[in-house]
Formats: sequence, C-alpha cells, structure tokens
Amino acid sequence: MKKWMVVLVVLLGIALLVTRYLPDSFDYKIGRGFAHDRVIDGKDEVAGKNEILVDVSKSQIYQGDLLLINKDYPLVDGNEAQDIVKLVDYSTFASQIVLLDRSLSLSQDVAERFLTMVKDANVEGIDHFMASSGYRTNQEQDNLYDEKGSEYAMPAGYSEHNLGLALDVGSTQSGIEKSEEGVWLRDNAWKYGFILRYPKNKEKITSIKYEPWHFRYIGLPHSAIMEEHDMVLEEYYEALRDEPLSITIEGQHYNVRYHPMLNDKKIAVPADGDYTISGNNVDGVIVTERHR
Ligand SMILES: [Zn+2]
Repeated sequence: MKKWMVVLVVLLGIALLVTRYLPDSFDYKIGRGFAHDRVIDGKDEVAGKNEILVDVSKSQIYQGDLLLINKDYPLVDGNEAQDIVKLVDYSTFASQIVLLDRSLSLSQDVAERFLTMVKDANVEGIDHFMASSGYRTNQEQDNLYDEKGSEYAMPAGYSEHNLGLALDVGSTQSGIEKSEEGVWLRDNAWKYGFILRYPKNKEKITSIKYEPWHFRYIGLPHSAIMEEHDMVLEEYYEALRDEPLSITIEGQHYNVRYHPMLNDKKIAVPADGDYTISGNNVDGVIVTERHR
C-alpha cells in the first residue's frame, strides 16, 4: 500500500471514531411521556425509618416554586404566585433598586430574597441595580406579544413573567451584560436561589436567545445543584428523571427527587417535616428534603 493510502485509511479511521463518540445532534426536549425505563405503577410509597406518608394529588403537578414554564409547558391559570405585590409600595425595595416602571409587581417573597442579594452586592460597591420587568398578567403578556411578535415575546401563559417568580434586571450605568451588576449576578445569584434562566451556551435547550437580564427564583438547593452541574432548568429535570440529586450547603444536606404523578398517591417524606413538594408543571412533583 502506498504511503498516502495508509495516511488516508488512518485519517478515515480517526474520523469514524470521532463521529461515533460525538453526542447526537442536540435535539433536546423533556418528553411528555417517561423518557427512561422507570417502573411506573402509580402505587403509594412505603414509609421508611423516620418517614411519614403524605397525600399528594395530581393537581400538585402544576403548583409550586419549581414549575417549568416554556414553549411546551404553559402556566395553568390560577397557579401564579399568590403573594404578588407592587414593588413601588414595598419601600425598602424601591429605595435600593431603581424601578423602570411604577406598576412593576413581583412575588413578595422573591422581592425580599432579591433585596437580600442586592444588599450583599452593595457591600462590594455594586449598587446600580434596576428592575425593568416583573410579574405580568395574561393581558399584559398578550399585549407584549402583539406588540413585539413571536421572536421577542411569548403568548400569555408561556412566559415565566406570568408566574411572578422572575424579573428582568438592569444596571443604571450600562447594558446589563457588561455592567458590574450583571457580572456580579452571573457569579452570585445561584447562592440566593436565583438562576440566569437563559444562558448564552444553552439556547438550543431553552429555545430562548441569551437573556443576560432575566433571573428566575427557584430556591436553594436547586440553584446550587444547577450551578454545580452547569444545567438549565430543562436539563435539571431531565437529570432528576434518571436519579435523585443531592448537595450539601453549609452543613445541611439536601436530597431532591422526582416522582411521576399518574394519579393521586402517598409519598414518603421526613417525619420532622423538613421538606417541600413542588410540581414540575410537566408530569410529576419534586420532593426536596433537608437533613441537618
Ligand atoms: Zn424576562
């Protein structure tokens, strides 16, 4: 065999190996069915040591802080945050963060957590935060959709802004992406339970263009696990379908597990009551346990 042929054969071999081990073209979507060979029997769980059983209804799929809202899974009417407040009336918030609009509203709990975060940034001299959008009613979302079109806005129900747990953040000094405020939030928001919902390198997964301004409250430990594994919400829920995830934060151990909800059922939770249950807005609930 001639030398160039040997080289060609070797190169072809390498090319074959490379294609074999590259991930499949990334067409990512949470299935509406169950992606893996999970045993789905809809049966009640059995309580283990230090556990009790609680009744969880199928309707809880659509309630809680962990709802996945995207083009495939809209918010079910009435399941937005129940503590929406006008930020202008919340004076401590309005004194620290410039409000672009006097009508800006948000879940009060999320507003308080955001304020805690901003105060910590202030300590480091970063203090030019601005809030440009918060909770939107279906009517407001529809108006925005009509005005901006499908490339820049979602129809009512399909935006996280309809949930009341997301806000758009700006800097009064410059565009958010390059501003100190934006950089600080990208590095630190996860410590406070917030996530940059639409990062630059995940556009194919979220189906939303990079939005350096849009932050969603999801809570700890979820934001920390997602940061640790570089996951967006869609990936996080996909990972939870495979196996429970856990993390230790400041000495507290958290277990997070997904339960498919084919019907109302009993789920085992810690008897000490240190747990939360939230729907994923798709097909199940996420049980988060804290062990001290
Ligand atoms: Zn937004």
